[in-house]
Amino acid sequence: ALVRRVLFVTGAISMAGCPPADRGEAVFIGRSNVGKSSLVNMVTNRKSLAYTSKRPGKTQQFNYFAVNDKPGREKEIKFGDVVEGEKDLDSFYIVDLPGFGFAKVPDQQRKEWADFMRDFLANRRTLKVVFHLVDGRHGPIDEDATIMKQVGESLPKNVAYVVVLTKADKNAKGPAKKKLGKVSIDVLNTLRETMRENKVGNAPIIVTSAETKLGRDDIWRYLRIAAEA
Ligand code: GDP
Repeated sequence: ALVRRVLFVTGAISMAGCPPADRGEAVFIGRSNVGKSSLVNMVTNRKSLAYTSKRPGKTQQFNYFAVNDKPGREKEIKFGDVVEGEKDLDSFYIVDLPGFGFAKVPDQQRKEWADFMRDFLANRRTLKVVFHLVDGRHGPIDEDATIMKQVGESLPKNVAYVVVLTKADKNAKGPAKKKLGKVSIDVLNTLRETMRENKVGNAPIIVTSAETKLGRDDIWRYLRIAAEA
């Protein structure tokens, strides 16, 4: 798939702050340091600049990135690496949800965040796919179970929910294995169990590595649902 450019659009803190619902959206959610920026950059062929979860002050917002936006709407930033010979995609949004486990925020803010997330999952009508990133070395933590619970309760059944295990190369030993990456059977079992407990037991699991590009095509199978919406 061809990604011509990725532009930061806005950081939303409520439904009213989201851009007009005029194209498909893919959400990436996961706690800080799970490997979200690395994965999105890997998937969209960015080197590092286009996308980072660590924009100062933006860590508690839903960060909207426009992929392949119309030239007229370009802002000052432009990322031009073109992949030859591949089919053009229409514009879609990648939305970075930082997760609400961020440190030291008042309860009230945490509640507002959770309310927005529930509202968004239930009511954002252009939402096509939710990628939930879980650290492939450790498996789900409490916050991941909370996210699964919210997804299980709020996400309409026609929106794809995909669990993405990150950093799989870190579990692999030896140069050959490192090219692929792996996840331990214990992590997988714990993950399946947590998914079942939170009523998302049937969701697909994709094992990925931003280092080795493992899982890139599998991510695109779902990303395409947003891109072609
Ligand atoms: P974010 O906070 O979720 O956006 O996480 P980052 O993408 O910034 O990654 C956090 C740290 O994990 C960085 O030091 C990355 O280099 C590292 N990292 C992310 N993905 C991978 C991966 O697939 N393999 C390895 N070995 N390290 C990774």
